Amino acid sequence: MMTCEEISKIYLFSILSRSAMKTALIRDGELSIEELPIPSLAHGDILIEMKACGLCGSDIEKIRGEYNVSPTIGHEASGVVKEISVNVTGIEEGDRVFPHHHVSCKSCHFCRTGSDTMCKSYREFHFDPGGFSEFFRVPKWNVKQGGILKLPENMSYDQASFIEPTGCCIRALRRSGIAKNDSLFVVGAGPIGLTVLQLAPLFGIPNVIISDVNPKRLEFARRHGALVTLDPSNEDISAVIMKETKGVGVDCAIIASGNPKAVRQGLESIRRGGSVILLGIPPLESSLDYGVERLVNNEVTMISSNAANDGEVRLALDFISKGHIDVDSMITHKFSIESIDIALEKISGGDVIKSIIIP
Ligand SMILES: [Zn+2]
Ligand SMILES: [Zn+2]
Repeated sequence: MMTCEEISKIYLFSILSRSAMKTALIRDGELSIEELPIPSLAHGDILIEMKACGLCGSDIEKIRGEYNVSPTIGHEASGVVKEISVNVTGIEEGDRVFPHHHVSCKSCHFCRTGSDTMCKSYREFHFDPGGFSEFFRVPKWNVKQGGILKLPENMSYDQASFIEPTGCCIRALRRSGIAKNDSLFVVGAGPIGLTVLQLAPLFGIPNVIISDVNPKRLEFARRHGALVTLDPSNEDISAVIMKETKGVGVDCAIIASGNPKAVRQGLESIRRGGSVILLGIPPLESSLDYGVERLVNNEVTMISSNAANDGEVRLALDFISKGHIDVDSMITHKFSIESIDIALEKISGGDVIKSIIIP
């Protein structure tokens, strides 16, 4: 028997489900702006009213058909819990939240050995239809595995849209094995590179060198503590880095760009015995043109880092709420769901650092 409360919830939801909502998704390999019915909830699901959703490099690769790990676009979302299904506890309508789009099982071999973002369940569940929607459904799995984080009062929805990408940067720094006072070169000063730059002091790394072709991004990096900023379009990056490090090279390079050339740049800038961390996602079928013997003879460590686990997004929320990362100044542009195509055209040109989509 259902309780009166449960019946009234289902009734309320049936009213919601009759109205339509705007959404941007990929249909037949193309970006499509559509009016769809608000998703129906199954037991254990929740419905979120989106307030902000970051446009990520991986969304753009998905739209261009260059990334096929998951077809859903919009994963850096924040919003208000609009509706909860039966069998949901600890979450209430009206809660301000960050829903994590992927959540691991915490018990399989991958989860137990620190590869929780490789867990089979991690990518199996996702937002429906995606984060670039006025409303989206978060499946029961994510809800019951603790993937709904409540936002502190001082955190805006715009700031909360940075929790997921910041979690990815924290994972990369953790996986890097970087030690206190090591030298770090961040290749690429997009939102990911600039977040790594701002996280570095929290990991005991005071001196960061960063590169990008975009002067606005380099200017941001200088204002946020970069020791040296470099533009590969008019500087010999590895020569400058060798000079800065007295001919040794940096201890670690984090590649915050999907361009395979950036990986090569990192490899040519590290010291012998140094490490390169692959964080940006290269397009499908890209390959690396680099002598394998150089990797071995120079004892190079290459580590990849993909997505973020539960602990990393929780730490990201904590760092953002304490003001350790200047998220507000990274958001340079906001676009509505209908104008997402304009956001895509502008993604990395001119004065854009981070674009977010708002309802
Ligand atoms: Zn992302
Ligand atoms: Zn697992």
